[in-house]
Amino acid sequence: MFDKLPISSKTERILTNALDESITVEEANHLMNINGADLHPLLATADFLREKISGNDVTFINNCNINFTNICQVRCGFCAFGKDADDPESYILNDEQILKKAEGAVANGAREFTLMGGVLPDADIEYYEHLLTLLKDAHPDVAIHGFSPTMVRDACRVSGIDIAEGFEILKKAGLDTLPGTAAEILTDRSREIICPEKVSVAEWIDIIKTAQEVGIVGSATIMYGHVETLAERVEHIDIIRQIQEDTGGFTEFIPMTFMHEFSPIFLEGQSNLGATGTQDLKLYAVSRLMLRDLIPNIQVSWVKMGFRFAQVSLMAGANDLGGTLGGDELSEASGAPDGVEASIETLSKMVRDLGRNPIERNSTYTEFYPIE
Ligand code: SF4
Repeated sequence: MFDKLPISSKTERILTNALDESITVEEANHLMNINGADLHPLLATADFLREKISGNDVTFINNCNINFTNICQVRCGFCAFGKDADDPESYILNDEQILKKAEGAVANGAREFTLMGGVLPDADIEYYEHLLTLLKDAHPDVAIHGFSPTMVRDACRVSGIDIAEGFEILKKAGLDTLPGTAAEILTDRSREIICPEKVSVAEWIDIIKTAQEVGIVGSATIMYGHVETLAERVEHIDIIRQIQEDTGGFTEFIPMTFMHEFSPIFLEGQSNLGATGTQDLKLYAVSRLMLRDLIPNIQVSWVKMGFRFAQVSLMAGANDLGGTLGGDELSEASGAPDGVEASIETLSKMVRDLGRNPIERNSTYTEFYPIE
């Protein structure tokens, strides 16, 4: 396949084998470090596999982020959104405000509410249960994708219950899927620098597996480009791969590039400038080669990359464009380059320009809705 290209023999061997089987950690580490003439064949291989596994549809969901509070006791070094409770810019949305936002989204055809926010001090499981009941009672047909493993851990502690019991309560109240955030980079070395108060690697794995055992499937994420090494990115993807081999409970994998500009860790000189463009593309491509059809859906985060680079990333192994969002205050605080909401028309235009088919989906990629 690559005999006419000036590609190194090692890269050629890895890419040729990748057409038939998942690459190893050692091979992934090699690919994370290539450049020059080896780069395009990597992207072409990932794109070829994407088409073979996920076809030419590019999916996205009509969803609405409801960021119910920005008060956060965790205060990750990379986050420009979380505030202390006594900060003049802090807020907690009341029921009326939440319902108003939800009603506006439903009027625009939303199929999912994404419930995210800071980790409130002293929030118990009943607090999150109430948010779910509030939305489900008003909009029973809209799926709820919500909460982070750190929120659930802390709420279960406050309520004095174990994690499984906490998820049972949330599921009964209407939690459909778990965003799988708080993963960041799954190595304790990096977490100690960027988010020491968050769940540890072992806790994240345990909480995600517990949710999946209770029947709450959801996303896996990676947030990269801050203090981690390239090898730690691969280590992270390999952990996700191993969990998926055990449980099959991930619906999608979402690489999220670090937005450095307003993050405390960058302003204090402790992180780098974020990933470069080719590092973003390699992350997508290597993810596809490692995850293949084990996690067939790899999502581009247009809110973090901007529309134009998100479109390019769809040619590096990704097949999903996330959602219309209807706002995302976490990304907005970090300097989202193209805003924090997109119309179906905008996302469809990007997809059609690639010669692929835009299609709406539900949260679990089990229902699809054609776009005229
Ligand atoms: S990323 Fe989440 S947990 Fe961390 S400070 Fe921001 S809002 Fe809090």
